[in-house]
Amino acid sequence: QPLGYAMVGLGRISMGHFMPGLKDAKQSKLTGLVSGHRDKAEKNAAEYGVPTSAIYSYENFDSIRDNKAIDAVYIALPNSMHAEYTIRAAKAGKHVLCEKPMATSVDDCKAMIAACRDNNVKLMIAYRCQLEPTNLRAIQMIRDGMLGSVQAIESANGFNIGPDWRLDKKLAGGGPLMDVGVYSLNACRYLTGEEPQVISAYSSVIDKDGRFSSVEENVGWTMKFPSGIVASCNTTYGGQMNGYFRVHGAKGSIDMDSAFGYQGQHLTAQIGRDNRIDEPSTARDPSQFTRQADYFADCVRNNKEPKMDGQEGLRDIQYMAEIYKMAGVAF
Ligand code: NAD
Repeated sequence: QPLGYAMVGLGRISMGHFMPGLKDAKQSKLTGLVSGHRDKAEKNAAEYGVPTSAIYSYENFDSIRDNKAIDAVYIALPNSMHAEYTIRAAKAGKHVLCEKPMATSVDDCKAMIAACRDNNVKLMIAYRCQLEPTNLRAIQMIRDGMLGSVQAIESANGFNIGPDWRLDKKLAGGGPLMDVGVYSLNACRYLTGEEPQVISAYSSVIDKDGRFSSVEENVGWTMKFPSGIVASCNTTYGGQMNGYFRVHGAKGSIDMDSAFGYQGQHLTAQIGRDNRIDEPSTARDPSQFTRQADYFADCVRNNKEPKMDGQEGLRDIQYMAEIYKMAGVAF
């Protein structure tokens, strides 16, 4: 029996990627919709064959408890709403797949983890890159010693933002670091398999055009890991930064550009003088979302702890809190 998901929030990521991804899923299907816009929900319900009785508002959300076809929720709301809807879903006995960043405070993350534990439901943070084959290939090359001892990592991810809730700290929790910088942070952790020991950071606002009265425009930060690897990362809401990472080792290096998109991952590597690797991914959007939904379904059905669990989400929020502190930005 496929895992039945209710979408919580019908925005760009849910309607444009996750729901289309469910159409190809083997172990997952769409069984409910939670939205503040009834007509949008009805249109999607018709398209996906969801009964109108499985459409909920934010007000009557808690009655998903009585819908046996809903096993799990996918939370695709602005960041500051993740905690409330995760906790309400857990109390309704539903498993939770929550979008990144997990929440907008360390305390909220801890409350989400506790609610899911106390109600015996699984919690996964939607770090889709941790399931994406080209990213996994990079990790495997490093673990296999192909690069020799890793010395340094560089990563960046950003875009030039227009009007968006992402510019409102109350909803977003922070600026580009929370939204897209988190991909670089998370990648440095999964590439090294280590946790950062020391962090330094700067932030700036360059474009005084009214967009950055509430959140930062740029953050640059470095992390030193226990092995001595130093990672340098940048994120911005002020210009296009194709998400990438480079890993430099004693015997060779990996260049993954792009690394974090919905498609188009491209791994190149130079190992020694002679071994040139060039592996563009041919996978197309929304395959990462299909894989993610089915991975979580497998965790739920077979009682396995997802590798991107609540602790994983919490750690990134803790490191981002430290980055903001070092950059002198209130969090
Ligand atoms: P979006 O603005 O397109 O959608 C947000 C949804 O929340 C909309 O349906 C909106 O109606 C609803 N909403 C409810 N209350 C709201 C309020 N008070 N203010 C604004 N919207 C409200 O956003 P999105 O790009 O889909 O992002 C949603 C979440 O998904 C965010 O946490 C974001 O970080 C995450 N995300 C993840 C990825 C990924 O690749 N994993 C990509 C994009 C976004």
